[in-house]
Amino acid sequence: GQCVSVCPTGALTEVNNTSKVWNALNDDSKFVIVQTAPAVRAALGEEFGNECGTPVTGKMVAALRSLGFDRVLDTDFAADLTIMEEATELMDRIQNGGRLPMLTSCCPGWINFFEREFTDLLDVPSSCKSPQQMFGAIAKSYYAKKMNIDPKNMIVVSVMPCLAKKYEAAREEMGNDVDIVISTRELAKMVKEAGIHFNSLHDEEFDSFLGESTGAGVIFGVTGGVMEAALRTAYEWITNETLDDVEFSMLRGMDGIREATIQIKDMQVKAAIASGLGNARKLLEKIRSGEADYQIIEIMACPGGCIDGGGQPYLHGHYEKLEKRANALYQEDRNKPLRKSHQNPAIIQLYDEFLDKPNSEIAHKLLHTHYTCRECD
Ligand code: SF4
Repeated sequence: GQCVSVCPTGALTEVNNTSKVWNALNDDSKFVIVQTAPAVRAALGEEFGNECGTPVTGKMVAALRSLGFDRVLDTDFAADLTIMEEATELMDRIQNGGRLPMLTSCCPGWINFFEREFTDLLDVPSSCKSPQQMFGAIAKSYYAKKMNIDPKNMIVVSVMPCLAKKYEAAREEMGNDVDIVISTRELAKMVKEAGIHFNSLHDEEFDSFLGESTGAGVIFGVTGGVMEAALRTAYEWITNETLDDVEFSMLRGMDGIREATIQIKDMQVKAAIASGLGNARKLLEKIRSGEADYQIIEIMACPGGCIDGGGQPYLHGHYEKLEKRANALYQEDRNKPLRKSHQNPAIIQLYDEFLDKPNSEIAHKLLHTHYTCRECD
């Protein structure tokens, strides 16, 4: 098949972090919260014998609560937050003659690759941190204050489909916002070690605040999803009109490189999507040579996006299974009452109470980052 489940960052070997999580959960002096990436819910069930493409969001939440996390929260919330910041940055670059195309920056697999091989293009990616890191930054500032907890006593655990997320959390400029990252497979291992009978669990809901998300946050886990989520919001911000048909079918699919032109009133937004590092390289070379006539590009290092991440249950190259995982996320998006990030009430409250507006001084400090030539360290 054209999609294989390998870690795109090559030589990375998985560091087993489950014992660190057990130690945190057994330490009564710590308040331990967990966030789960969008793609995890589309694949975790497979570790317990469920059909590929069975969404297990409610059971996953129940399992995490049984493991003893003090709060079970959602990276999807931070995906909505990422859209607020990234759509603002895109509009700013388009309207004020900034650097185009803008590249999405959620995927540390491709950021790592890019910082080594395309060091002449360091101003091209969005300055937005990834949802994992935005979650950590808000958890250790606003949320800790709201919960009346000293951030030093808070441990943020992430469950990610990805091996590169472990390295991202350890980057110096990210501080200690995310303490421990485990993969989907490691979570399955912990659930088994705890003797939890996963398939008998009743569905439970995420805890509130940092647990609410829209459908736009959910589709981050599949190639094209970040772009689609960003356009849902940018469309409404630019036109001041309601976007009724939120599904951008021209952005979907599993081809390694896809292009589309989206008409937003009198503006044409030219978009490109690449998944897999070979395809990313082709697009980046077009940018380097000045041939790339796009405003926005989404890159995911794993073919198909995070649903096929190196921390997920192995797919052994089964392309149909990848589509089933994608459909699990698209279905979850359809089932959400709100499907645009800027409508998330908890996000609105976060800006009202703390961040003020996208790219405010404090938002910039907490939610944005910069890129470095890694060969020049
Ligand atoms: Fe990680 Fe997703 Fe990037 Fe793969 S596509 S490296 S799973 S962030």
